[in-house]
Amino acid sequence: MKYTDSNDDEKLPPIPKFDLAVADEQQRQMAMSAPTNASNRDYANAQAYIQQTSQLKVLTRIQRDYLAEAYATVGNYELASKTTKDADKKAEWKAVHKAVWKDDHLMCKCPPIKTVEMVNNKVEHVEHSQVFTVGTIFSHKLNTFVRLVRCNQCHHLNTK
Ligand SMILES: [Zn+2]
Repeated sequence: MKYTDSNDDEKLPPIPKFDLAVADEQQRQMAMSAPTNASNRDYANAQAYIQQTSQLKVLTRIQRDYLAEAYATVGNYELASKTTKDADKKAEWKAVHKAVWKDDHLMCKCPPIKTVEMVNNKVEHVEHSQVFTVGTIFSHKLNTFVRLVRCNQCHHLNTK
């Protein structure tokens, strides 16, 4: 880009008008092509790591651990559990793999926790589900990100 000190505006090319519709379309395209949240970014990074590692003939222990994590991040929990040597992670990823592929409506029958609370200045019996969200994971069954849920009491895992 060139600059001029001339005040003779007549000789300068006109300043292009800002086109809101064009800018909106550009933003939309960028939003579609760029990862929009942490899960998508992690997924893209993990894919890149798997791609790069596939070129290597020998993996160090650390590279192997990273590769296992990367497999888990892209939803390949079975491969992740086979790749890691960490017994805890092996068990955890096996369980997540099962959770992804089991029927989503299958959940344990653990009863909710019952408490007595003050609600609007009245004593009320309140029930709290024991099922909590562990995090967001990629499901190859549904081909999208889902919530991994776990029961606090029996540790039953599923996706929602
Ligand atoms: Zn349970």
